[in-house]
Amino acid sequence: MKRTSQLFTTLLLIIFGVTYADDTIPHQITWKTQQADAKQEIADHFLRARKILQSLVKDHPAVMQQFDSFSKSVQQIYVAGEGLVSSDVHRIIDATIFASAQHRKQTRKDTTQTPYVIHPIGVAESLVNLGHVRDPDVIIGALLHDTVEDTETTFEMLKSLFGSRVEGFVREVTDDKSLLQADRKRLQVEHASHKSAGAAQIKLADKLYNMTNVATNPPPDWDKARQDAYIEWGKQVTDHLPWVNAPLKNAIDTVVKNYQTKKTTQ
Ligand code: ZN
Repeated sequence: MKRTSQLFTTLLLIIFGVTYADDTIPHQITWKTQQADAKQEIADHFLRARKILQSLVKDHPAVMQQFDSFSKSVQQIYVAGEGLVSSDVHRIIDATIFASAQHRKQTRKDTTQTPYVIHPIGVAESLVNLGHVRDPDVIIGALLHDTVEDTETTFEMLKSLFGSRVEGFVREVTDDKSLLQADRKRLQVEHASHKSAGAAQIKLADKLYNMTNVATNPPPDWDKARQDAYIEWGKQVTDHLPWVNAPLKNAIDTVVKNYQTKKTTQ
């Protein structure tokens, strides 16, 4: 019995060994090798991008921390197979570097004058982590969302470098700078309900970032009335956006609620 069983096992091994050797096993090995190569290649690209950013922002600790955390999230999504292919990740890295270069002369309005690029990277990160967005063009649109409004970048440039879909999202979230600020603010509310799903999500993450900043770490030259007005305006814009990303909208509602509670207890 034992003999037969051994022979049977040997036969099975021979049969399946031959079958697998011709097909599944080599295929799996090749696939795994390719995956490992792609992972390494992405890690290397992030490292190269990090060095460029480091020189652009003079190794600013908060910006580098923001970049590292975003880079970790994107790599985790890629490795887990959650919807980003290798070429998407490469485009995301390129957009991060493009935004860093274009915004290099600007700072945030905070007390420490943090390099501006911390904002678009933070917006992209909350889209990915909190909003669970996996559409690469929406993530890239978030990274580039302020480049036309605040730098020398043109829509044509974005179209040729990142494609017309990305350009379209940035166009949807860019204010007309020839208008007065009060009109621009009013139009953001009026136009909010017509935004595409991609642009609406970028807008939500952008407002979440800025409203959180105003609520917790306002620009030093902003008085209470200006902070109140900003939170109220941000709420109005986001209330008018299409219902598209509950976690991001809920996070904004929480910021507003906490801000109002703080105000009434002060
Ligand atoms: Zn922004």
